[in-house]
Amino acid sequence: MFERPLLHADADCFFASVALRARPELQARPVAVVNHVIIASANYPARARGVRSGTLVQEALYQCPELVVLEVPHAEVEEVADALFEVFHRHARAVEPGSMEEAFLDVAAPDQSAARQAAQAIRAEVAAQLGIAVSVGVGRTKLIAKLASRAAKPDGLHVIAADQEARLRAELPIGQVWGIGPKTAARLRDLDVHRLLDLDRIPKNQLQSICGTGMARRLGQIRAGTDDAQVRPVQHRESLSAETSTSGYGRADHTPAELAETCLERVLRRAEKAGLVGTGITLTMQPSDQGSPLRRKQSDLTAGTERSGWRSTVSRLLRSEPLPPLSGLRVTLTGLMPADQVPQTLF
Ligand SMILES: [Mg+2]
Repeated sequence: MFERPLLHADADCFFASVALRARPELQARPVAVVNHVIIASANYPARARGVRSGTLVQEALYQCPELVVLEVPHAEVEEVADALFEVFHRHARAVEPGSMEEAFLDVAAPDQSAARQAAQAIRAEVAAQLGIAVSVGVGRTKLIAKLASRAAKPDGLHVIAADQEARLRAELPIGQVWGIGPKTAARLRDLDVHRLLDLDRIPKNQLQSICGTGMARRLGQIRAGTDDAQVRPVQHRESLSAETSTSGYGRADHTPAELAETCLERVLRRAEKAGLVGTGITLTMQPSDQGSPLRRKQSDLTAGTERSGWRSTVSRLLRSEPLPPLSGLRVTLTGLMPADQVPQTLF
């Protein structure tokens, strides 16, 4: 009994992997990318030496003096994330993003072997086209698929079949359930609850008083195998943005208009995929002298504006006043609404 398996696809140490595409000679060395002074992501050799994301660079260097530290290549990260989701959309009929680099996918696989094939195809395509590794888990519910992708790392594919699923649902450590904090876990431990199985002998009302009604219900569903198995595409977002910089790889000498055009294309494509339309646009421009960002916006556009309309709005905003030299630019589509809810009279 393995009905309608779904996939959880998650790029391995995403920011570090993107940064390493241009530096293949560093692959086998411990590498971390930083955002200001915090480690944003570390490759596996660095993790093996105790480097963890979220820690200070100084701490990481103390832990691992040979660590190579690179800056997060923000614009490139964003481009790769977009391309990653393009691959997901090509293979799936529904994509539910978890973050910019992970998603649940409904690939319409009738059985486990079809799901495995789709997972392999996605992994191969991402590796060939984007030069990064995406690990994929296959399972019957989102929780199981996510546990599978975790088991698949690094650079792997892992399928949790029905018999393993039953075992997992009994033996899953309670602290590994998302949303169970250390305090709740400690209170459950006091009652000798360590694994999901141990919940079977705790009266329902006692469980509710320890972790709240919502979590108690969720734990019951996980134990029974009736937890969430629905991949839900994102529909309600208020804004979407894309950014680029003049200093990125191969981007010298681009004019603000060209940068804006690139970002506009990207953000319109993302909105289209998500079934959304914008009614406003904001340009955020970073002067190259590190001064404060400049913002220009227009917020009362007609839902259903064509590409050409967006382009002329952008060029009007750019020309409204002289611009200093820029180091980066971001385009944000605002006031998003579902495309199928746009009143027909607006077109
Ligand atoms: Mg990841």
